[in-house]
Amino acid sequence: VKKDEPPKLVNAPSAADENYEQPLTQEESSLLKKMLRDKLVQNNQELEVQQRDPSSPLYSVKSFDDLPLRKELIRGIYGMGFNRPSKIQETALPLLLCNPPNMIAQSQSGTGKTAAFVLTMLSRLDTNKHYPQCICLSPTYELALQTGKAVEQMGKHLQGLQVAYAIRGNHVQRNTSIPAQIVIGTPGTMLDWTRKAALDLQKVEVFVLDEADVMIDTQGFKDQSIRIHSKLSNRCQMLLFSATYDDSVMKFAEQIISQPNIIKLKRNEETLDNIKQYYVKCSTVDKKYESLTNLYNVLSVGQAIIFCHTRKTASWLARKMCEDKYVVALLSGELDVSQRAAILRRFKEAKERVLVTTNVCSRGDVEQVTLVVNFDLPVDFNRRPDCETYLHRIGRTGRFGKSGVAINFVSNEQDMRILLEFQEHFGIKISYLDTGNYAEIE
Ligand code: ADP
Repeated sequence: VKKDEPPKLVNAPSAADENYEQPLTQEESSLLKKMLRDKLVQNNQELEVQQRDPSSPLYSVKSFDDLPLRKELIRGIYGMGFNRPSKIQETALPLLLCNPPNMIAQSQSGTGKTAAFVLTMLSRLDTNKHYPQCICLSPTYELALQTGKAVEQMGKHLQGLQVAYAIRGNHVQRNTSIPAQIVIGTPGTMLDWTRKAALDLQKVEVFVLDEADVMIDTQGFKDQSIRIHSKLSNRCQMLLFSATYDDSVMKFAEQIISQPNIIKLKRNEETLDNIKQYYVKCSTVDKKYESLTNLYNVLSVGQAIIFCHTRKTASWLARKMCEDKYVVALLSGELDVSQRAAILRRFKEAKERVLVTTNVCSRGDVEQVTLVVNFDLPVDFNRRPDCETYLHRIGRTGRFGKSGVAINFVSNEQDMRILLEFQEHFGIKISYLDTGNYAEIE
């Protein structure tokens, strides 16, 4: 390696695509989150519980030992390194295990929903019986395998436990019988297995529909899920989980889960109060570059994300920074999910402290950074201010009571008007920052 060779750019794209970068689809972003996440996400949001029978006592448990669980399962849980129930598990598990109701539960990805329903399935099945007693519908092949892994880990000490996967490539012959107690799969294959009489839905005691929000976004899955659901007996416990909870999910949930208990996160008003927001005037893209490099020392103290509007700008910027020997990573739309996950994982491990990206990374993928730079202000197709994206981008900083910093590059009058609109929309102040005086934000 030549001495003066610039640091290598992580995953430099070749395409010079000037197109507006679409945010990830729900399916991609959900998968990405699953791939990245290896521990519980802490959230401070309150849960809201709507009980079917409001007179029945509602209690939450602080320890797995307080739940009516077989000792094999307790061993499995502790063996996975879980010390105590997560917030949603505290509230959902006593209901799910003691007085099996139907349930709709919503909370963000990574908060312990999967573990909660896996435990429910495992505590209901009888390993002496060799037919499917619990089924779980997942919107993707990969998710089905991940859920299965959780079942296998948690159920490790249950003698005779078997799991089957109704996913593409796993065909069954007509009238074969499946000895597994748990079947996890995607709706199409699951339906095929029931049509071939390999799966008797009348005997199923727990039905789980996971990631309902992704499910209804996927062509055909909603109808297939409804068809599967309609063949279940009315003694079957039905559970539906979702990371988000908008009207379309709710409508579907209520269609499929009758008389549910509902657990969901209280909507907390997202505020940008604890984020210091600034703007810097830079009339040209070269001026933006200059401002950014002046900022680099501040940027790389913690971790920073720089948002550009197009792939082309993002890759130009990352390349130029690399040529000038700044260490940055680039994440943009032409990468597939596993490449993205690899870059985000490196960033999470702080192997790179500065990430240049586009809208592909505006939602939830990165947990915490100290600084967000809007190299280009977020605007939609019609170049109108995109408040939601502004919120998602700068919401990456200033989490959990820590204060964060966001810097907006403004190059003309139109940008200035956009900025004013963000101020008005969120009731915030975006202060002028003198490029000569970055010390002020440190
Ligand atoms: P969700 O289904 O809401 O996305 P998961 O159940 O997959 O969340 O949990 C997210 C991560 O946290 C997983 O790696 C899981 O093993 C872990 N986890 C779940 N419950 C607990 C717990 N009670 N204690 C510690 N880790 C947990």
